[in-house]
Amino acid sequence: MTRPLEDGSEQPLAAVHDVALLDLDGVLYVGPDAVPGAPEAVAAAAAAGLRPAYVTNNAARTPETVAEHLRALGVPADATDVVTSAQAAEMADDVAAVVQGFAPEVGWRLLAEGTYAVAAGLPWIASNLDATVPTAKGTAPGNGALVGLVADAAGRRPDAVAGKPETPLHRESVERTGAERPIVVGDRLDTDIEGANRAGTPSLLVLTGVCRPADLLRAAAELRPTYLAADLRTGLLDPHPAVRSVDGGWQCGQATVRVDGTDVTVDGATEDGTGRTDALRALCVAWWAAEAAEADDEAVRSAVAAAGW
Ligand SMILES: [Mg+2]
Repeated sequence: MTRPLEDGSEQPLAAVHDVALLDLDGVLYVGPDAVPGAPEAVAAAAAAGLRPAYVTNNAARTPETVAEHLRALGVPADATDVVTSAQAAEMADDVAAVVQGFAPEVGWRLLAEGTYAVAAGLPWIASNLDATVPTAKGTAPGNGALVGLVADAAGRRPDAVAGKPETPLHRESVERTGAERPIVVGDRLDTDIEGANRAGTPSLLVLTGVCRPADLLRAAAELRPTYLAADLRTGLLDPHPAVRSVDGGWQCGQATVRVDGTDVTVDGATEDGTGRTDALRALCVAWWAAEAAEADDEAVRSAVAAAGW
Protein backbone atom coordinates (compact mmCIF):
# COMPACT_ATOMS: atom_id res chain seq x y z
CA MET A 1 0.00 0.00 0.00
CA THR A 2 1.40 3.36 -0.98
CA ARG A 3 1.67 6.09 1.65
CA PRO A 4 -1.08 8.73 1.48
CA LEU A 5 0.02 11.48 -0.97
CA GLU A 6 3.72 10.79 -0.28
CA ASP A 7 4.57 8.28 -2.98
CA GLY A 8 2.76 9.95 -5.86
CA SER A 9 2.67 8.45 -9.34
CA GLU A 10 5.04 9.35 -12.17
CA GLN A 11 2.50 8.05 -14.66
CA PRO A 12 -1.00 9.53 -14.88
CA LEU A 13 -3.45 7.32 -12.98
CA ALA A 14 -5.35 6.71 -16.24
CA ALA A 15 -2.26 4.84 -17.50
CA VAL A 16 -1.71 2.86 -14.28
CA HIS A 17 -5.19 1.56 -13.43
CA ASP A 18 -7.72 -0.43 -15.49
CA VAL A 19 -11.00 0.60 -13.83
CA ALA A 20 -12.00 3.83 -12.08
CA LEU A 21 -14.67 3.22 -9.43
CA LEU A 22 -16.16 6.69 -9.63
CA ASP A 23 -18.39 8.22 -7.00
CA LEU A 24 -21.12 10.35 -8.57
CA ASP A 25 -22.27 13.29 -6.44
CA GLY A 26 -19.45 15.78 -6.01
CA VAL A 27 -17.29 13.99 -8.59
CA LEU A 28 -19.31 13.88 -11.83
CA TYR A 29 -22.26 16.03 -10.89
CA VAL A 30 -23.54 18.30 -8.15
CA GLY A 31 -27.31 18.08 -7.94
CA PRO A 32 -28.55 17.88 -11.54
CA ASP A 33 -25.54 19.59 -13.15
CA ALA A 34 -22.20 18.21 -14.35
CA VAL A 35 -19.02 19.19 -12.48
CA PRO A 36 -17.29 21.43 -15.07
CA GLY A 37 -14.82 19.38 -17.13
CA ALA A 38 -15.77 16.05 -15.54
CA PRO A 39 -17.49 14.45 -18.58
CA GLU A 40 -14.50 15.32 -20.80
CA ALA A 41 -12.10 13.96 -18.16
CA VAL A 42 -13.93 10.60 -18.02
CA ALA A 43 -13.88 10.35 -21.83
CA ALA A 44 -10.17 11.22 -22.03
CA ALA A 45 -9.30 8.77 -19.24
CA ALA A 46 -11.30 6.05 -21.01
CA ALA A 47 -9.37 6.75 -24.23
CA ALA A 48 -6.16 6.31 -22.22
CA GLY A 49 -7.33 2.87 -21.04
CA LEU A 50 -9.12 3.61 -17.75
CA ARG A 51 -12.61 2.10 -17.90
CA PRO A 52 -15.19 4.07 -15.88
CA ALA A 53 -17.62 2.42 -13.45
CA TYR A 54 -20.09 4.42 -11.43
CA VAL A 55 -20.51 3.46 -7.78
CA THR A 56 -23.10 5.12 -5.60
CA ASN A 57 -24.38 4.80 -2.04
CA ASN A 58 -27.68 6.18 -3.32
CA ALA A 59 -30.21 3.33 -3.43
CA ALA A 60 -33.13 5.51 -4.56
CA ARG A 61 -32.40 5.40 -8.30
CA THR A 62 -32.03 2.40 -10.60
CA PRO A 63 -28.83 1.88 -12.60
CA GLU A 64 -30.75 2.76 -15.79
CA THR A 65 -31.95 6.07 -14.30
CA VAL A 66 -28.43 6.92 -13.14
CA ALA A 67 -26.98 6.01 -16.56
CA GLU A 68 -29.59 8.20 -18.29
CA HIS A 69 -28.66 11.13 -16.05
CA LEU A 70 -24.95 10.64 -16.78
CA ARG A 71 -25.52 10.40 -20.54
CA ALA A 72 -27.59 13.58 -20.45
CA LEU A 73 -24.53 15.31 -18.94
CA GLY A 74 -22.25 13.93 -21.65
CA VAL A 75 -20.71 11.16 -19.50
CA PRO A 76 -20.43 7.83 -21.35
CA ALA A 77 -22.49 5.31 -19.31
CA ASP A 78 -24.60 2.16 -19.71
CA ALA A 79 -26.77 0.76 -16.93
CA THR A 80 -24.26 -2.11 -16.65
CA ASP A 81 -21.55 0.42 -15.71
CA VAL A 82 -23.53 1.54 -12.64
CA VAL A 83 -23.38 -0.23 -9.25
CA THR A 84 -25.70 0.97 -6.48
CA SER A 85 -25.82 0.07 -2.81
CA ALA A 86 -29.29 -1.41 -3.46
CA GLN A 87 -27.64 -4.03 -5.69
CA ALA A 88 -24.97 -4.74 -3.09
CA ALA A 89 -27.67 -5.12 -0.42
CA GLU A 90 -29.47 -7.89 -2.36
CA MET A 91 -27.52 -10.53 -0.49
CA ALA A 92 -30.20 -12.22 1.68
CA ASP A 93 -30.67 -15.57 -0.08
CA ASP A 94 -34.14 -17.04 0.55
CA VAL A 95 -34.29 -15.34 3.92
CA ALA A 96 -36.96 -12.80 4.63
CA ALA A 97 -35.06 -9.66 5.51
CA VAL A 98 -35.44 -5.92 5.81
CA VAL A 99 -33.38 -3.94 3.30
CA GLN A 100 -33.50 -0.26 4.17
CA GLY A 101 -32.52 2.24 1.49
CA PHE A 102 -33.34 5.88 0.98
CA ALA A 103 -36.14 7.11 -1.25
CA PRO A 104 -37.98 10.44 -0.95
CA GLU A 105 -41.27 8.51 -0.64
CA VAL A 106 -40.28 6.66 2.54
CA GLY A 107 -42.85 7.64 5.15
CA TRP A 108 -43.92 6.80 8.68
CA ARG A 109 -46.00 3.75 7.75
CA LEU A 110 -43.11 2.08 5.93
CA LEU A 111 -40.68 2.95 8.73
CA ALA A 112 -43.13 1.48 11.24
CA GLU A 113 -43.49 -1.77 9.25
CA GLY A 114 -39.69 -2.01 9.02
CA THR A 115 -39.40 -1.44 12.75
CA TYR A 116 -41.91 -4.24 13.56
CA ALA A 117 -39.95 -6.61 11.32
CA VAL A 118 -36.48 -5.85 12.70
CA ALA A 119 -37.81 -5.82 16.27
CA ALA A 120 -39.12 -9.34 15.56
CA GLY A 121 -35.55 -10.37 14.71
CA LEU A 122 -35.47 -10.37 10.89
CA PRO A 123 -32.07 -9.75 9.27
CA TRP A 124 -31.65 -6.02 8.61
CA ILE A 125 -29.41 -4.58 5.91
CA ALA A 126 -29.00 -0.85 5.36
CA SER A 127 -27.95 0.36 1.92
CA ASN A 128 -25.83 3.05 3.57
CA LEU A 129 -25.55 5.14 6.75
CA ASP A 130 -25.08 8.54 5.09
CA ALA A 131 -26.40 11.04 7.62
CA THR A 132 -27.35 13.54 4.93
CA VAL A 133 -28.32 13.59 1.29
CA PRO A 134 -27.64 16.56 -1.03
CA THR A 135 -30.75 17.92 -2.77
CA ALA A 136 -31.35 20.84 -5.12
CA LYS A 137 -32.74 22.83 -2.14
CA GLY A 138 -29.87 21.98 0.21
CA THR A 139 -28.86 19.26 2.64
CA ALA A 140 -31.62 16.88 3.79
CA PRO A 141 -31.78 13.85 6.15
CA GLY A 142 -30.22 10.78 4.49
CA ASN A 143 -30.65 7.04 4.90
CA GLY A 144 -28.52 7.02 8.04
CA ALA A 145 -30.99 9.36 9.74
CA LEU A 146 -33.91 7.08 8.83
CA VAL A 147 -31.97 3.99 9.96
CA GLY A 148 -31.45 5.83 13.25
CA LEU A 149 -35.22 6.23 13.70
CA VAL A 150 -35.80 2.50 13.21
CA ALA A 151 -32.82 1.63 15.43
CA ASP A 152 -34.13 3.79 18.26
CA ALA A 153 -37.59 2.26 18.03
CA ALA A 154 -36.45 -1.35 17.57
CA GLY A 155 -33.58 -1.20 20.06
CA ARG A 156 -30.97 -2.65 17.69
CA ARG A 157 -28.69 -1.65 14.84
CA PRO A 158 -28.57 -3.06 11.26
CA ASP A 159 -26.80 -6.40 10.84
CA ALA A 160 -24.94 -5.15 7.78
CA VAL A 161 -24.37 -2.02 5.74
CA ALA A 162 -23.85 -2.40 2.00
CA GLY A 163 -22.63 1.06 1.01
CA LYS A 164 -19.36 2.90 1.44
CA PRO A 165 -17.30 2.78 3.65
CA GLU A 166 -18.41 -0.81 4.32
CA THR A 167 -17.02 -3.32 1.83
CA PRO A 168 -20.02 -5.06 0.11
CA LEU A 169 -20.61 -2.29 -2.46
CA HIS A 170 -16.90 -2.09 -3.25
CA ARG A 171 -16.67 -5.89 -3.61
CA GLU A 172 -19.75 -5.90 -5.86
CA SER A 173 -18.20 -3.15 -8.02
CA VAL A 174 -14.90 -4.98 -8.46
CA GLU A 175 -16.69 -8.25 -9.27
CA ARG A 176 -19.06 -6.69 -11.79
CA THR A 177 -16.30 -4.80 -13.60
CA GLY A 178 -13.63 -7.51 -13.41
CA ALA A 179 -11.19 -4.81 -12.32
CA GLU A 180 -7.62 -5.97 -11.72
CA ARG A 181 -6.06 -2.61 -10.82
CA PRO A 182 -8.99 -0.50 -9.65
CA ILE A 183 -8.78 2.99 -8.27
CA VAL A 184 -11.53 4.54 -6.16
CA VAL A 185 -12.36 8.15 -7.02
CA GLY A 186 -14.48 10.19 -4.63
CA ASP A 187 -15.16 13.46 -2.88
CA ARG A 188 -15.83 12.22 0.68
CA LEU A 189 -13.26 11.04 3.17
CA ASP A 190 -15.67 9.13 5.43
CA THR A 191 -17.27 7.05 2.65
CA ASP A 192 -15.23 6.89 -0.56
CA ILE A 193 -11.74 7.13 0.88
CA GLU A 194 -12.29 5.18 4.10
CA GLY A 195 -14.02 2.47 2.05
CA ALA A 196 -11.06 2.28 -0.35
CA ASN A 197 -8.61 2.07 2.54
CA ARG A 198 -10.59 -0.75 4.18
CA ALA A 199 -10.51 -2.66 0.89
CA GLY A 200 -6.79 -1.96 0.35
CA THR A 201 -7.54 -0.16 -2.93
CA PRO A 202 -5.72 3.06 -3.94
CA SER A 203 -7.89 6.18 -3.93
CA LEU A 204 -8.06 9.62 -5.51
CA LEU A 205 -9.79 12.46 -3.66
CA VAL A 206 -11.08 15.31 -5.82
CA LEU A 207 -11.95 18.70 -4.36
CA THR A 208 -15.07 19.28 -6.47
CA GLY A 209 -17.49 17.98 -3.82
CA VAL A 210 -17.91 18.09 -0.06
CA CYS A 211 -14.31 17.66 1.16
CA ARG A 212 -12.45 20.92 1.76
CA PRO A 213 -8.68 21.31 2.34
CA ALA A 214 -9.30 21.83 6.07
CA ASP A 215 -11.04 18.42 6.25
CA LEU A 216 -7.93 16.83 4.77
CA LEU A 217 -5.66 18.36 7.41
CA ARG A 218 -7.96 16.98 10.12
CA ALA A 219 -8.23 13.52 8.54
CA ALA A 220 -7.31 10.56 10.73
CA ALA A 221 -4.97 8.00 9.15
CA GLU A 222 -7.78 5.73 7.92
CA LEU A 223 -9.39 8.65 6.03
CA ARG A 224 -6.32 9.77 4.06
CA PRO A 225 -6.36 9.34 0.28
CA THR A 226 -3.54 7.88 -1.82
CA TYR A 227 -3.81 10.77 -4.28
CA LEU A 228 -5.26 14.27 -4.21
CA ALA A 229 -6.31 16.55 -7.06
CA ALA A 230 -8.36 19.69 -7.55
CA ASP A 231 -10.54 17.98 -10.17
CA LEU A 232 -11.03 14.81 -12.18
CA ARG A 233 -9.04 15.93 -15.21
CA THR A 234 -5.82 16.72 -13.37
CA GLY A 235 -6.40 13.79 -11.03
CA LEU A 236 -6.65 11.15 -13.75
CA LEU A 237 -4.59 12.61 -16.59
CA ASP A 238 -1.64 14.41 -14.93
CA PRO A 239 1.20 12.75 -12.98
CA HIS A 240 1.12 13.03 -9.17
CA PRO A 241 4.49 14.32 -7.94
CA ALA A 242 5.81 12.60 -4.82
CA VAL A 243 6.04 14.52 -1.54
CA ARG A 244 9.61 14.29 -0.24
CA SER A 245 11.19 15.13 3.08
CA VAL A 246 13.74 17.93 2.59
CA ASP A 247 15.69 19.76 5.24
CA GLY A 248 13.06 20.36 7.87
CA GLY A 249 10.17 20.45 5.44
CA TRP A 250 8.23 18.59 2.78
CA GLN A 251 8.56 19.30 -0.94
CA CYS A 252 6.10 18.59 -3.73
CA GLY A 253 6.83 19.96 -7.20
CA GLN A 254 8.08 23.52 -6.65
CA ALA A 255 6.43 23.92 -3.24
CA THR A 256 8.14 23.35 0.08
CA VAL A 257 6.08 23.41 3.27
CA ARG A 258 7.36 23.62 6.82
CA VAL A 259 5.16 23.12 9.87
CA ASP A 260 6.41 24.29 13.27
CA GLY A 261 3.75 23.60 15.88
CA THR A 262 0.84 24.94 13.89
CA ASP A 263 2.84 27.69 12.13
CA VAL A 264 3.10 27.04 8.41
CA THR A 265 5.53 28.50 5.89
CA VAL A 266 5.24 27.76 2.19
CA ASP A 267 8.10 28.47 -0.24
CA GLY A 268 8.29 28.24 -4.00
CA ALA A 269 4.63 27.49 -4.70
CA THR A 270 3.44 28.91 -7.99
CA GLU A 271 -0.01 30.44 -7.91
CA ASP A 272 -1.45 28.41 -10.78
CA GLY A 273 -3.62 25.35 -10.19
CA THR A 274 -0.68 22.95 -10.24
CA GLY A 275 1.29 25.02 -7.73
CA ARG A 276 -1.64 25.25 -5.33
CA THR A 277 -2.31 21.54 -5.54
CA ASP A 278 1.35 20.68 -4.94
CA ALA A 279 1.42 23.08 -1.97
CA LEU A 280 -1.67 21.40 -0.51
CA ARG A 281 -0.21 17.92 -1.01
CA ALA A 282 2.98 18.97 0.79
CA LEU A 283 0.98 20.73 3.52
CA CYS A 284 -1.11 17.63 4.20
CA VAL A 285 1.93 15.38 4.57
CA ALA A 286 3.74 17.99 6.70
CA TRP A 287 0.68 18.56 8.89
CA TRP A 288 0.07 14.84 9.38
CA ALA A 289 3.77 14.30 10.19
CA ALA A 290 3.56 17.11 12.78
CA GLU A 291 0.51 15.36 14.29
CA ALA A 292 -1.30 18.67 14.34
CA ALA A 293 -4.71 17.09 13.65
CA GLU A 294 -6.08 18.40 16.96
CA ALA A 295 -5.30 22.02 16.10
CA ASP A 296 -8.12 24.54 16.45
CA ASP A 297 -10.15 25.90 13.55
CA GLU A 298 -8.18 29.12 13.29
CA ALA A 299 -4.84 27.31 13.01
CA VAL A 300 -6.23 25.00 10.31
CA ARG A 301 -7.71 27.95 8.41
CA SER A 302 -4.46 29.86 8.40
CA ALA A 303 -2.46 26.77 7.42
CA VAL A 304 -4.74 26.20 4.44
CA ALA A 305 -4.56 29.89 3.51
CA ALA A 306 -0.74 29.78 3.62
CA ALA A 307 -0.87 27.07 0.95
CA GLY A 308 -3.04 29.30 -1.24
CA TRP A 309 -6.47 27.78 -0.46
MG1 LIG B 1 -19.86 12.01 -3.45
